[in-house]
Amino acid sequence: MPTKVIAGEGCVLKNGEEIAGLGKRAMIVTGKSSGHKSGALQDILQVLDEHNMQYDVYDCIENNPTLESMVEAGEHARRWKPDVIIGIGGGSPLDAAKAIAVLANNDMPGMDLYSGNYPNKPLPIVAIPTTAGTGSEVTPYSVLTLQDIESKKGFTSEDIFPKVAFLDAVYTQMLPIDVTVHTAVDALSHAIEGFMAMRGSVYTDYIALESIKLFTECMPQLKAGDLSLMEREKLLRASTLAGIVIAHTGTTIVHSMGYSLTYFKNIPHGKANGLLLAEYLRFVEKVAAAKVQAILQAMKIANVDEFAEHMNELLHDDIRLLPEEIEKYATISIRATASIQNTVGNITKDEQMSMFAASIGADS
Ligand code: NAP
Ligand code: FE
Repeated sequence: MPTKVIAGEGCVLKNGEEIAGLGKRAMIVTGKSSGHKSGALQDILQVLDEHNMQYDVYDCIENNPTLESMVEAGEHARRWKPDVIIGIGGGSPLDAAKAIAVLANNDMPGMDLYSGNYPNKPLPIVAIPTTAGTGSEVTPYSVLTLQDIESKKGFTSEDIFPKVAFLDAVYTQMLPIDVTVHTAVDALSHAIEGFMAMRGSVYTDYIALESIKLFTECMPQLKAGDLSLMEREKLLRASTLAGIVIAHTGTTIVHSMGYSLTYFKNIPHGKANGLLLAEYLRFVEKVAAAKVQAILQAMKIANVDEFAEHMNELLHDDIRLLPEEIEKYATISIRATASIQNTVGNITKDEQMSMFAASIGADS
């Protein structure tokens, strides 16, 4: 893992030299409210002032950022000429920071981000998560919304691994409970998918199980909607561990299927994954039962039905898809070849349709 992870309360203020060492001009990339509400922006500005650094606050990243908005942000960055990009926020601003770090040094069409190979090295990235879910602070991925394919798609490059990640759970304390639950379930999904992935290894399996156990320890508080700083710390750790897992293994069809739920139904990313997880476990059970057993054991639950009940309690399964919507979403997600190849068993479009239907189909 090329990312230096610095964790603990007050870690940004205590380690300002890590940022100062990356240059003199910083472009801060954050959402409309996350940087401010979390307190992370204030800490970063203090550090930048202490080290006489210049900065520009680009605080307009929308949820599930689009490629077009990244092209615009890239133009802004090329005009302002930062030395370092500081991403503060949930996965959306962190992924945006990665795209901007590439485009700041490369005046090229947005779609060229997907080549993963750029004429000039991307700028160094500092990542400060304010949600505990995506693990983007330790992954070489940036997921963008592409109108052309009516879905989301990640690009990847070793050069967009953040140089430094600061993990301070205090920044997640102001997260509304629904966002807390959805993002925690995204981390669980990463750990489970990574544990099942074709690209997994015994090493990533250890880390994935550890992440799943941390999530499980916090499940009662997530359900009750009442989390102390200790649980928030555990969830942030679970999220970064799961990020380390998918940095190696990638994700699977749960993510590619979930993208349609976000694109067409505006369902938050983590919830979209969570709605599909139980049916995914049932699918994998047919081809790799021992893997599913290991997950159930780590979660101290007896079977996939019980897993489904936990997800229902956490997520409030309140949407239903029509058959024509299911057909459309499966048509789109079956094109995500990397996810398909990374999924155990030979998953077909029909099986994806059955998974959608059993999870959230109108007749189920
Ligand atoms: P998000 O879209 O970044 O943020 C969700 C909401 O939470 C936003 O309204 C945000 O406000 C708010 N928020 C964030 N931190 C807050 C805080 N501390 N206090 C109060 N509100 C806060 O959600 P996310 O689930 O973290 O990220 C999802 C994105 O990450 C998706 O695009 C997904 O595809 C991507 N993702 C990437 C990876 C990867 O490896 N790169 C992995 C999984 C998912 P603002 O709008 O003001 O920021
Ligand atoms: Fe995810």
